[in-house]
Amino acid sequence: MRALIVVDLQNDFIPGGFLAVKNGDEVLPLINELVHYPFDLVIATKDWHPHDHGSFAENHGKKVGEHINLAGIDQILWPTHCVQGTYGSEFAPGWDTTVIDKVFYKGTDPLIDSYSTFYDNGHRKSTGLEYYLREKGVRNLYFVGIATDYCVKFSVLDALQLGFICYVIVDACRGVDLNPDDTHRALAVMQAAGATLLSFKDVPEMMKDEKLHEL
Ligand SMILES: [Zn+2]
Repeated sequence: MRALIVVDLQNDFIPGGFLAVKNGDEVLPLINELVHYPFDLVIATKDWHPHDHGSFAENHGKKVGEHINLAGIDQILWPTHCVQGTYGSEFAPGWDTTVIDKVFYKGTDPLIDSYSTFYDNGHRKSTGLEYYLREKGVRNLYFVGIATDYCVKFSVLDALQLGFICYVIVDACRGVDLNPDDTHRALAVMQAAGATLLSFKDVPEMMKDEKLHEL
């Protein structure tokens, strides 16, 4: 069984949003095609913060990019983004979301951020995604979305740790690049940890070769 995991394809992460990722909207046409490939499940994640979330610079009177200690964990401060129920937290327009089997929400606890779609940044609480995938017998995960150097990266690293086989469709992801080259470095880290990097055009060929045994 294989699943497509679409990470945080939300208004605030595409051009015009509060935490816009350069060219983030360019992944849309690719993802709209991918959802019709032979995936057993299409899963979407949402960054879903309360307005008082501890990752927001304005809640601390500090600047974006500064670091604080948030309940014992180093936290980089972001612009206010993906506040629950706001336009910025909605899925990007133009994405055919009718194909989504299930949405997982993260970043809901004001005292801890969550880049990974599996756990918060302290690995204290699970989002339930691991259990869901195991229950469905999914072993192979294809990742796309935003941002390559944060939520995609940490999701993939957790998935590998949990024993899933991970593929990252590089051109269907975009990175924040707070520091130049963060995206390239993140891809190298994922690959070194065991993920297979591939481009959109190579997905059909990869699907023919992969082994779809249940966990
Ligand atoms: Zn966030």
